[in-house]
Amino acid sequence: MNQEQNKIPRATAKRLPLYYRFLQNLSASGKKRVSSAELSEAVKVDSATIRRDFSYFGALGKKGYGYNVQSLLTFFSSALDQDEVTKVALIGVGNLGTAFLNYNFLKNNNTKIEIAFDVDPSKVGTKIGDVPVYEIHQIGEKIKEEDIQVAILTVPVHVAQSITDELIKADIKGILNFTPARLNVPSSIRIHHIDLAVELQSLVYFLKNYPED
Ligand code: ATP
Repeated sequence: MNQEQNKIPRATAKRLPLYYRFLQNLSASGKKRVSSAELSEAVKVDSATIRRDFSYFGALGKKGYGYNVQSLLTFFSSALDQDEVTKVALIGVGNLGTAFLNYNFLKNNNTKIEIAFDVDPSKVGTKIGDVPVYEIHQIGEKIKEEDIQVAILTVPVHVAQSITDELIKADIKGILNFTPARLNVPSSIRIHHIDLAVELQSLVYFLKNYPED
């Protein structure tokens, strides 16, 4: 039984962030208890599935009483590692980079952009959305000092690889690459590539060519 509780099925794990977000809202509005029917209505998952999902986390619900919002939140936050913040650096404070600094993934409170880098002297030394912008030459030193594990790359394409090489030297673990560059990295480093122009083009292509799907 205990072993089963430790091993949450994939499908259940995928619903965790959804439950977590909704419970945070409930808690913020002062609600102490919630029934599986109420949860079902809000997150559009049937209540039998919710009860089964929650049974993996131990018997947290009581008949006629519902679930205690706070204890569910405590459970979810540790299951989702919300207590441990992953520190992120952003390189290239242009239009896109500035938007990320202002947004700073606040609703997703386990990641936070701590520092940013740029070459432009009018940006270096300023703070955007509370995040300090450093001169690009300080990248190695600052990333190590702040123990940053993830970098967001929003620089022009022609400097993307050389900056990536610096990030590798600074022991970064993952890169979210918003440039169109295909970056070379050792297999120990994970890269996720998001090309917004390609995504948009692809969406339009599918709408035009497969309107029925
Ligand atoms: P975006 O593509 O984000 O909309 P933009 O069009 O405002 O940006 P870009 O020319 O793409 O500007 O540059 C993005 C940012 O990267 C700028 O703030 C620029 O100063 C910065 N940048 C350019 N070269 C480097 C470099 N070698 N190191 C760090 N930052 C750089």
